[in-house]
Amino acid sequence: MTFLAGNLLSAFFAVLGACIGSFLNVCIYRISEGKSIIFPNSFCPNCQHPIKLYDNIPIVSYLVLRGRCRNCHERISLRYPALELLTALLSLLLFWKYGFSFQYLFAFVFTCALIVIAFIDLEHQIIPDVITLPGIPLFFLLTFFFTGVSFRDSIFGILIGGGSFYLIAVVYQLVTKREGMGGGDIKLIAMLGAFLGWKSLLFILIVSSFLGAIVGISMMIIHGKDLKYAVPFGPFLSIAAVAYIFFGDYFMKFLILRQGIY
Ligand SMILES: [Zn+2]
Repeated sequence: MTFLAGNLLSAFFAVLGACIGSFLNVCIYRISEGKSIIFPNSFCPNCQHPIKLYDNIPIVSYLVLRGRCRNCHERISLRYPALELLTALLSLLLFWKYGFSFQYLFAFVFTCALIVIAFIDLEHQIIPDVITLPGIPLFFLLTFFFTGVSFRDSIFGILIGGGSFYLIAVVYQLVTKREGMGGGDIKLIAMLGAFLGWKSLLFILIVSSFLGAIVGISMMIIHGKDLKYAVPFGPFLSIAAVAYIFFGDYFMKFLILRQGIY
């Protein structure tokens, strides 16, 4: 592949990511409101005015309109262009890792599902079943094609991931009489195990707990010692799962070298 063609393809996958990110914004808004994700066309959440196609260009429109609705001039949340940029970046990084392949496609679909889950959990403290419940069998089925995870590892991922966290949640609730990890987290972990295999779970657990602890402690410092100020765990699980796609191999090699198998 020539240098120019490579750059054009990279640009294509970044722009594709930004467009899909724009669609994910719509999904996040409509799934949390319980609305259809296809009809009607995009509209301003403040004045309900339909958004014209030329005002719906990812990132660019936000800059052109200087972050305000063309009709009512209400501020548009920075979340919209930020999420488009994030999706563009992840699409590009996945393309660089996998090239134009099924692996890219599957990993990108998985990443998009996690973006939607993480942002809904951040805003509403809920992980939507409409994504995780179909996600578990879907990502299990995908392991039959070119994902590098055997379907046996996928099954164990669902059982060990979902099962062990279910047990932790039950024991925690029995001991403290408080609900710790929600059912949504358990279904999400089962979905992560389905796509990444059971071997990914240790990495995901370490990274998400570490991130959760840092943010949790920071929140306690900012908001005082009120532990009831719960931080949703879904975003940390999502970040850890995406990190595993990029760094999981290094982590595995590190573990194996430590054990002296090589
Ligand atoms: Zn408006």
